[in-house]
Amino acid sequence: MTGLKTEELLSFIGGGCYEYTLDAPASELTSFRTGGKVAAVVYPKNKRALCALLRFLSERDARHITLGCGTNVLAPDDGYDGVFVMTQKMTRISLDGSVMTAECGRGVTSCASAAQKAGLSGLEFAYGIPGSVGGAVFMNAGAYGSEIRDIIKDAECWDPEQGETVTLTKDELSLGYRDSILRHNGMTVLSARFALTPGDGGEISAKMAELMSKRRDKQPLEYPSAGSVFKRAPGHFTGKLIEDCGLKGTRIGGAVVSEKHAGFIVNAGSATSNDVKALVSLVEERVFAEFGVRLERELIYL
Ligand SMILES: Cc1cc2nc3c(=O)[nH]c(=O)nc-3n(C[C@H](O)[C@H](O)[C@H](O)COP(=O)(O)OP(=O)(O)OC[C@H]3O[C@@H](n4cnc5c(N)ncnc54)[C@H](O)[C@@H]3O)c2cc1C
Repeated sequence: MTGLKTEELLSFIGGGCYEYTLDAPASELTSFRTGGKVAAVVYPKNKRALCALLRFLSERDARHITLGCGTNVLAPDDGYDGVFVMTQKMTRISLDGSVMTAECGRGVTSCASAAQKAGLSGLEFAYGIPGSVGGAVFMNAGAYGSEIRDIIKDAECWDPEQGETVTLTKDELSLGYRDSILRHNGMTVLSARFALTPGDGGEISAKMAELMSKRRDKQPLEYPSAGSVFKRAPGHFTGKLIEDCGLKGTRIGGAVVSEKHAGFIVNAGSATSNDVKALVSLVEERVFAEFGVRLERELIYL
């Protein structure tokens, strides 16, 4: 492992606050179902354990990345010689009046369901987004006209520079279109607070069902993918640009531009990450040649 001996890591994470696997295929950890072996995958069970692990890895300059559900990333085919720090065991959630606090590994869809049960509105848009709270804050995830920025109050984060936890307010998070300060400052979200508003449970549930049905109609959910590969191009519908280039159904290896939604690239069964990358480049080149529009990727290459 780059910067770290496996025995050193194992000795640090022994003691019950972590689960781990060694040499795990990234294809089982990411929604694209591609990618080679990851040297170590560690699942901290609470915030303190996550911070301690991040401090330990930073101090040793060990290669690592924090992931939630792996639904917006593409892992390298030739493996990752470092540590995937996965937050999926950190799922605590609580309500204080209409303010929800959720740990970073909690799924945003599950947060939306919990809000609905409590008669709280604001998270309906997130129902159906397959990522975690941490990933959603990092990306400022959004759908159907709403985004995390609309509801977030603040986020407790691990600051690797200071070696301590800090609370970033909504303004300090600098949430923009699929962007936040976290994409630039290396901090890790430990938990986030969402300011919701009292609403009618039945209406909230109906809205969630309506949005989920839209997803099922428009998105190729039957195939592995990472959702929309590209950001919205200003003044354009990205899917339409790709479709108008005649690229629907275009295939490289096992990666295919979805017939259902041209903004999605799907893994039709045997795709490698390199197939996906080659197809992404092809789409970018064709859209630029045809319309002079430079697409920007939402999908993160690890
Ligand atoms: C079928 C499908 C539909 C989708 N629909 C939508 C949609 O409607 N809207 C939308 O915005 N996205 C959508 N996505 C993309 C994806 O689900 C979101 O971007 C989601 O927020 C990513 O969360 P994650 O936990 O999977 O993040 P990951 O893929 O695990 O990580 C993404 C990035 O976030 C960082 N990260 C993860 N956790 C933390 C943390 N705790 N602290 C700091 N950084 C962290 C990672 O380092 C990485 O850089 C979709 C994806 C799929 C597969």
